[in-house]
Amino acid sequence: MLHVQTVKSSNCTRCGRPLRDPVSVQRGMGPVCAGRAKADVAERQQETGVIVTVDGRPLEHVVRHSPTGLEWGYGGSGPSDLALSILTDYLGDQTLADKVYQRFKSDVVSQWPYEGWRMTGAEIAEWLRDQGIEAPARQVVYEGRRAA
Ligand SMILES: [Zn+2]
Repeated sequence: MLHVQTVKSSNCTRCGRPLRDPVSVQRGMGPVCAGRAKADVAERQQETGVIVTVDGRPLEHVVRHSPTGLEWGYGGSGPSDLALSILTDYLGDQTLADKVYQRFKSDVVSQWPYEGWRMTGAEIAEWLRDQGIEAPARQVVYEGRRAA
């Protein structure tokens, strides 16, 4: 059962140890676990052969439909998670991303070619504007490709 964590825990969500500094409490993980979580994302992307980056760094996978990985080019659960992950990263607001990510999936993510894609912050801001959401055009680039 997946749920959105709304309460800030004072314990690490990964190892359960108490968190001491405000940054860790905000993140829900201590520095060591945060590093491991990032490494897990990179490793999973290696396993599935799907690499999704934001400005060259691995995009954090917001797990909702597809714990096994991100995908694009069709209307399934991997593309749902990719749409949610991109919009959550771009908006910095999962509640807002929740409202439009399914439409983002059908309009955009499901249309991308199998081989790979690239989308700029300006393009995302423009799509959001069409949905009635004013978000600043951030200078970021999202990219997806298949490992060779
Ligand atoms: Zn921890």
